[in-house]
Amino acid sequence: MEEQENAERAAKRKAKRRRTVLVCGMVIAVLVLLIAVLLFLVVQGNAGRMAPWKQEKVQKGTENMTEDTSAAESAETETESETETETEPPAEVLEEADRLAAMYDYDGAIALLKEDPGFADSQEMADKVAQWEATKETLVEYPLDQVTHVFYHTLVKDTSLAFDGDSNEGGYNQVMTTIDEFNKITQSMYEKGYVLVSLHDMCTVNEDGTVSRGKILLPPDKKPFVLSQDDVSYYHYMDGDGMASKLVIDENGKVKNEYIEQDGSVSVGDFDMVPLIDTFVEEHPDFSYHGAKGIIALTGYNGVLGYRTDIAYKTRENLDEYQEKFFQEHPDFNEDSFKKEVKKAKKVAKAMKKNGWEFASHTWGHMNVTESDLSRIQTDTEKWMSYVKPIVGDTDVIIFAFGADIGGWEGYTSDNEKFNYLKNVGFNIFCNVDSSQYWVQFGNTYMRQGRRNLDGYRMYYNPEMVEDLFDASSVFDPARPTPVPEM
Ligand SMILES: [Zn+2]
Repeated sequence: MEEQENAERAAKRKAKRRRTVLVCGMVIAVLVLLIAVLLFLVVQGNAGRMAPWKQEKVQKGTENMTEDTSAAESAETETESETETETEPPAEVLEEADRLAAMYDYDGAIALLKEDPGFADSQEMADKVAQWEATKETLVEYPLDQVTHVFYHTLVKDTSLAFDGDSNEGGYNQVMTTIDEFNKITQSMYEKGYVLVSLHDMCTVNEDGTVSRGKILLPPDKKPFVLSQDDVSYYHYMDGDGMASKLVIDENGKVKNEYIEQDGSVSVGDFDMVPLIDTFVEEHPDFSYHGAKGIIALTGYNGVLGYRTDIAYKTRENLDEYQEKFFQEHPDFNEDSFKKEVKKAKKVAKAMKKNGWEFASHTWGHMNVTESDLSRIQTDTEKWMSYVKPIVGDTDVIIFAFGADIGGWEGYTSDNEKFNYLKNVGFNIFCNVDSSQYWVQFGNTYMRQGRRNLDGYRMYYNPEMVEDLFDASSVFDPARPTPVPEM
């Protein structure tokens, strides 16, 4: 009996153990399943949050080279399929809106999201709009009278060729800036909170010809500035002196420079201000206000942007010594070549305008308008209108050559015949050269602004005058011969 009872008890214990093992197993299985589900949810959540990072990768991919595009595209589709169920806003719309907001164009960014068909269902878009509306409230109107304007000439790529002891060395040393110096100045100004604005952000021209003050709204720690570059013609006299030879559109549709190496081969890259700034703003959109870049002041007598587009290259009349030499070196240059030059220059100018660049007259013949009488100014202006304007389009800005103005600092008067003429042919904004931090004047029918030269002469002789922008002692290129010649 006892034995039987013991056996029964043992069998019961065994069954109980089996049940316990079974229950434990089931509990473990359920737990594993739960963990798996949790993990899946976490990964999905991260994928949603990771979207901006992936977008950045997509953006960088397209910015870099064409070979990266396929990888970037697959990253994009990956993002889309992972989040398909959550009606994610399209990455390219978010990316463009983010870029507009980074450039302080919050209204543009908000409008872009609101017109997206997925806006009503997107929490991400709603959050962004709310954030930008809040940021807009913190912007302050910058005093226009305190907007500084800096300018450069063509930048020096190879200092050993620019500063080689020939007759041009002294001039380059005085009025040119090297690419190294330019990059250091740009970086310093960016770190100090400077932001590129357009002259047309500073003022508005009304239909009756009067000029009103504009409105520049920036975060309190930002400072607007205007950037210009003079004489972007790649004049013949600079050949072989270590500077770019022209602006071109590369195979990715970007505006770049051509540079002729000493062995005659041609390099394409960021060898002057325009592509250097384009690249910098691509990497730092907050360096540009609403997409503004700089303003390019052009003469016409050697053509524009490195293209031989002046009428002299068609007629071969009234050639200067450099143009005579050009035709000796290019005996096949004919009317067809001339037409091609004009066509290419137009294409580059159009691409530049699309990227935020503007153009100004620098007079056709690099004329000193202070010393020239009205009839000479008229003849020169007509040439600019005939041979430069058809390439770069309309402009209402004149950037005086030599900084030589048509009137004193008090303002243009109604009996100033040079002003009356230039206003009459369409100029509203007039820029001279002035070394003070800022000089802005609003007249009833014009705006005037002084510009500061950031070149070898200024850095060497007046480093204190650029202290608000950069430290001249750490920027000044050691490759420059010193002393920089006096003016
Ligand atoms: Zn000039």
